[in-house]
Amino acid sequence: MSRLSGRPFLQIPGPTNVPLPVLAAIAKPTIDHRGPEFKVLALEIFSGLAEIIQTRGPVIIYPASGTGAWEAALVNTLSPGDAVLMAETGHFATLWRTIAQKLGLNVQFLPGDWRRGAIAADIEARLAEDRTHAIKAVAVVHNETSTGAVTDIAAVRRAIDAANHPALLLVDTISSLASIDYRHDDWGVDVTVAASQKGLMLPPGLSFNAVSAKARTAARTARLPRAFWDWSDMLVANEKGYFPYTPSTNLLQGLKVAIKLLRDEGLEHVFARHSRMAEAVRCCVRAWGLEIWCTDPNDYSSVLTAVTVPDGVSADALRSDILQRSSVSLGNGLGRLADRVFRIGHLGDFNDPSMLGTLAAIETSLMCCGVPVKAGGVSQAIAALTPLPGATRAAAE
Ligand SMILES: *Cc1c(COP(=O)(O)O)cnc(C)c1O
Repeated sequence: MSRLSGRPFLQIPGPTNVPLPVLAAIAKPTIDHRGPEFKVLALEIFSGLAEIIQTRGPVIIYPASGTGAWEAALVNTLSPGDAVLMAETGHFATLWRTIAQKLGLNVQFLPGDWRRGAIAADIEARLAEDRTHAIKAVAVVHNETSTGAVTDIAAVRRAIDAANHPALLLVDTISSLASIDYRHDDWGVDVTVAASQKGLMLPPGLSFNAVSAKARTAARTARLPRAFWDWSDMLVANEKGYFPYTPSTNLLQGLKVAIKLLRDEGLEHVFARHSRMAEAVRCCVRAWGLEIWCTDPNDYSSVLTAVTVPDGVSADALRSDILQRSSVSLGNGLGRLADRVFRIGHLGDFNDPSMLGTLAAIETSLMCCGVPVKAGGVSQAIAALTPLPGATRAAAE
């Protein structure tokens, strides 16, 4: 194929676009991870991450993708055969369950239809039945990246408290952190699982566990085997600004800058930007006459929108037309949603023209592929992004 000119658009729901200052920081010479310069870098990053995760406790950093931090959350807190209550929100919740099963945990999987967040009342009911407190942890995905549905973590916390149950609360924030409001301490989360390549705007390769005092107490008696993932060696070394093994030095150099970008913009503004962009995308999808996969508007994700294609249309053929014609990459349907939905990522570092360009590329291919939709979705997105001048003035007064 001849060269396609212009910048390709990465609009999958992670990995996301890496801002130039972050790329520049990663490209700097690697420093000595046991030297004095590294210690300053590491201590700064630990405090910056705690600010983003909204915790006063420690944050552990692994040179691994998010999957590693999933495993770390389980092996540090649980023992073979322990019961874990997990909520079936979609493909990522299902993958996390598989890891728990492979580790020899006894997973109780609360069934879900993959079209909304976890239901706190179901969690409360299941915990209330568990009079002997056999369930040692509740594990939920905050933003289910396969479906575009968010779980209300504060409500899950209230459900655990209402059942008067001592289970730990483990939360996957891999695609929500730094895009959607998240509060580790306020919401009483015991282990937060996060990763670098989504809202944090870094390449893949780093993942995180934020750990409560209760989680660290559980780690003292947890008997699942662990070596690489062991929190205790990490926490001892991290206190002094170092790591028990070689950290991803250059990604950490990038992380320092990504934290600064988020701090300069202000987390509240970052969240508002994501929710505004998501609303514009939904206006566009509705104008096309296509269905948003998530069925509960309360659970709509600010991070991505999964769009249902009409019966008889292949979502993958459509995505492939969009990629060839316009160099725009969209997310595919995962697991049981394969070929039934495409996913528009609207998280991380981008702006209105990138969003509108993405939507215009989709609209073009919808028309070219003869998908039965209405034109004019992009105009609705423009209208959603740009309030009329009169309205702006009224709001300012
Ligand atoms: C991306 C993602 C993962 C997987 O993380 P990897 O970095 O691919 O291991 C897990 N959970 C959620 C919610 C995700 O969005």
